Amino acid sequence: MIYREYGRTGKKVSVIGFGGMRFEDIDNEQQCVEMLVHAAERGINYFDTAPAYFGVKGETRFGAGLRQLRRCGLPYYVASKTFESTESGIRREIEQQLKRMDVETIDFYHAWCITDLQSWRERKANGLLDAFRRLRDQKLIGHICVSSHLIGDDIRELLDERVFEGVLFGYSAYNFQAREAAFAAIRRHKIGCAVMNPLGGGLIPQNPDLFAFLVGGELGDEGPVRSRAVVQAALRFLVAHQDISVILVGFENRRQIDDAVDAIRGDRLHDSTVIQRVRQSAAASFSGICTGCRYCLGSCPEDIPIPQLMDAYNQLILRGEKDLINRLKYHWDLPMREAARCIECGRCEESCTQHLQIIERLAAIAEIGDRHAHTTEK
Ligand code: SF4
Ligand code: SF4
Repeated sequence: MIYREYGRTGKKVSVIGFGGMRFEDIDNEQQCVEMLVHAAERGINYFDTAPAYFGVKGETRFGAGLRQLRRCGLPYYVASKTFESTESGIRREIEQQLKRMDVETIDFYHAWCITDLQSWRERKANGLLDAFRRLRDQKLIGHICVSSHLIGDDIRELLDERVFEGVLFGYSAYNFQAREAAFAAIRRHKIGCAVMNPLGGGLIPQNPDLFAFLVGGELGDEGPVRSRAVVQAALRFLVAHQDISVILVGFENRRQIDDAVDAIRGDRLHDSTVIQRVRQSAAASFSGICTGCRYCLGSCPEDIPIPQLMDAYNQLILRGEKDLINRLKYHWDLPMREAARCIECGRCEESCTQHLQIIERLAAIAEIGDRHAHTTEK
């Protein structure tokens, strides 16, 4: 296992982290505990969960797993999050979390899911930072972190406030262009960096042909072999990025833990040409897919969030309508009617690096939104 500094915290974390949002059978406590133990035995020391993963069961299973790690003398750091922003709300939440996870401290505690700077300002105005600082003084949390879905300069602006010791955001071979700006701030302020959704929320293993460029060689004929090859290559691409402290993989079972840990063994990892090759190949390989490059930003007279809507449309192409709806609702926190505001001026299409038919795609999203609203009203 490779270990990296987590910003200026003095903590060294395993470059592969355990994301606790995908247990195959959350009701099987024994199996979940065994997964945490197996991960720790393979060198993983960063365990990430949240109060809404499987309801409260995610944190409860972590509690049982972490107890077992202590019994076995296996070292770990635990990370969790809160949506709360007032002192009383955060206190109420963390008391429950500490009990559920049976720990005295949550090492990395995140202001959860910042989707836009305005909502961050509101949370700050509610007293979030003072509350987090008091929790840190009382050693109930170790470090003040943020989990963000911001893209482009917004994420850089958030980190330039210099109030966070760590940041967590989605980053993968599928969407890396949208979040590149974060790394300048991460380096400048020595912030710990955890990335989530390293497999594009399942898009990468489900579309091995689309992501074959990651492998840089033969993929093999059989489905599972091809999927495994792109998954491992996708992880190696992230590990090669030295500003990333830890990559959270949402493990379903023990086999996936072994696959991830095995993927980062060997000397190919330290080859910085991996990053160059992937960056160069991505745009050409993603024909018809929004790459999140954000060149369209600022072109829209109606201020329509085009990269987010086109990212959601990717889900429609690669996975289907339900994933488009979920992406907008749960990831971007955007209503589908945003797409209907388009006045078809065409400026965004002129600046799109992928030459996407954005107007047509927005119309399709608006139509799905109407149909969905109509169906849910019935
Ligand atoms: S075509 Fe629509 S989305 Fe594109 S810039 Fe014009 S109004 Fe905005
Ligand atoms: S719509 Fe085009 S320009 Fe805008 S982010 Fe996507 S690929 Fe880039």
